[in-house]
Amino acid sequence: MTAELPSGAVRYGTAVRDVTDAEAGAALVHTATGEVRPADAVIAADGINSPLRRRYFPDHPGLHYSGETAWRTVLSAEGLPPLVTSETWGRGQRFGIVPLADGRVYAYATAFQPQGTRPADVRAELTRRFGPWHAPVPALLERLDPAALLQHDLFDLAAPLPRLHHGRLAWLGDAAHAMTPNLGQGGCQAVEDAVVLAHLLDRADTDGIPHALAAYSAARRDRTDALRIRARRAGRRPVGLRRGAADPAHPGLGRGRAGRRRGSRRPAARHRPRPRRRAGADHR
Ligand SMILES: Cc1cc2nc3c(=O)[nH]c(=O)nc-3n(C[C@H](O)[C@H](O)[C@H](O)COP(=O)(O)OP(=O)(O)OC[C@H]3O[C@@H](n4cnc5c(N)ncnc54)[C@H](O)[C@@H]3O)c2cc1C
Repeated sequence: MTAELPSGAVRYGTAVRDVTDAEAGAALVHTATGEVRPADAVIAADGINSPLRRRYFPDHPGLHYSGETAWRTVLSAEGLPPLVTSETWGRGQRFGIVPLADGRVYAYATAFQPQGTRPADVRAELTRRFGPWHAPVPALLERLDPAALLQHDLFDLAAPLPRLHHGRLAWLGDAAHAMTPNLGQGGCQAVEDAVVLAHLLDRADTDGIPHALAAYSAARRDRTDALRIRARRAGRRPVGLRRGAADPAHPGLGRGRAGRRRGSRRPAARHRPRPRRRAGADHR
């Protein structure tokens, strides 16, 4: 993609300290090295902790911790029986298996625990939680390389942004609409944002850019917020799964003894935090 752009158009490793004058004829991008560059449009794709979101929406309640943490890694599947994509639900815990085209397997696990909790020995912790679960979970745990394991506490925006733009500045991806990964949509929505934005900016001249960004905001805000809420609800569903309750998204789970997997008998996680209400945050 970068080959299609004029040389020097993409600059890596440049930290942005601030964006000012977003409502003027040209926004000013201030880099950490003190450089100030004018821009017709600035797209803030600065992630879930977006400093620019905090600066331009100081009254926004920020992030909401789902109460859940996620571990994920890619493992060799060599020597294992053929794997199928699955997610097993225990009480307050999940284990996911996604075979990859190159013969490896993407494995993830989630559990409820206080924000920031990091086990001293992650392999021991995951074995304690998931070791007694059904095959091939124990075999996958034996292959774990703690150095190749990611752990992220799962957050989403506590409330939608009032709009996804401000003059010549627009927010995209997690900066605009961070959501929990329960629907696998965070990255997908960032790509959708980019496609819509590209179409709208392509038609705009310099003076029309604020209008194009307002149209982007109108096109994307409600769709992405609906997914944020659905993702939040989807994360609660496995936790609240009742014995015997069927779920069309996961046939076979929770349908009584024949469909239940061993993992679902584990006790509820002890450290499930009680939801805290915050001013301005939604509680859907
Ligand atoms: C456990 C887990 C599983 C997930 N699974 C999926 C999935 O299956 N499918 C899916 O679609 N999504 C998934 N996601 C979500 C996905 O990872 C995010 O939605 C996506 O990475 C967001 O992309 P982004 O570009 O908006 O932000 P990021 O990927 O966070 O990128 C932001 C970038 O901005 C840079 N930055 C920040 N501040 C500055 C600054 N001041 N100056 C310059 N650069 C800056 C950062 O260094 C970073 O490189 C998952 C997330 C998690 C945590």
